[in-house]
Amino acid sequence: MTASGSETTPAPEPFPTDWTRCLVLVAHPDDPEYGMSAAVARWTTEGRHVVYVLASSGEAGIEGMAPEVAGPVREEEQRRSSAIVGVTEVEFLGFPDSRIVDGPELRDAVADAIRRHRPDVVVSLYSGPEWAPGAPNQSDHMEFGAAVGTVFDDLAAAAGVESGEARPLFWFESSPDPTHYVVVDGFVETAVDALAEHSEYLSVLDPDTPVRDQARTQVENVCAPREGLADGRPVVGFRRMRP
Ligand SMILES: [Zn+2]
Repeated sequence: MTASGSETTPAPEPFPTDWTRCLVLVAHPDDPEYGMSAAVARWTTEGRHVVYVLASSGEAGIEGMAPEVAGPVREEEQRRSSAIVGVTEVEFLGFPDSRIVDGPELRDAVADAIRRHRPDVVVSLYSGPEWAPGAPNQSDHMEFGAAVGTVFDDLAAAAGVESGEARPLFWFESSPDPTHYVVVDGFVETAVDALAEHSEYLSVLDPDTPVRDQARTQVENVCAPREGLADGRPVVGFRRMRP
């Protein structure tokens, strides 16, 4: 017991394993690779079914490239990246990159994706205001996460009265403040490979650092071992968003 005792947040627990279908819902191409793809690689290797649904095609994300050119480039990079971690179903909902708004149209599209894919687990990207003090999150991530939360709650409420309604059991965010973790030793290199597939995007983002080096730095940071957790093996953290 530490000096701060019961004031401290409980240590993260292992991520649930009693599920087979996962729907990853994110705003942009590369969102899965920046946070969770090492965990996805483990899940698909275990035989679980994972689908990616992305609100936008990331068409505003490559500086100096017209959106109508960048969108298809980024979709293709996302498909290649997803395939590396065993995800072959990738959908783009066509909402405008950098102008995503939590409104009825977005919520309908998210609800439709959940009904079609019938996941046990929904995983989305961190939607809180700051990744760390002084490191603000993007508006798209916050708006999209809010929409996912509303839809999750609506489906949970509907499941109480309409027994046939599809309803995921869990909603997690890939989060800097995790309640759960997935041990990813053996999958870190796969996650580096996956992020490095976003080569056009990364090479414009930071022209001076080789794409693979950028990918490695990012993935090793996300998967860094945490003190007292999983015997010091690399982990990906998730926060359970509803009890
Ligand atoms: Zn993003």
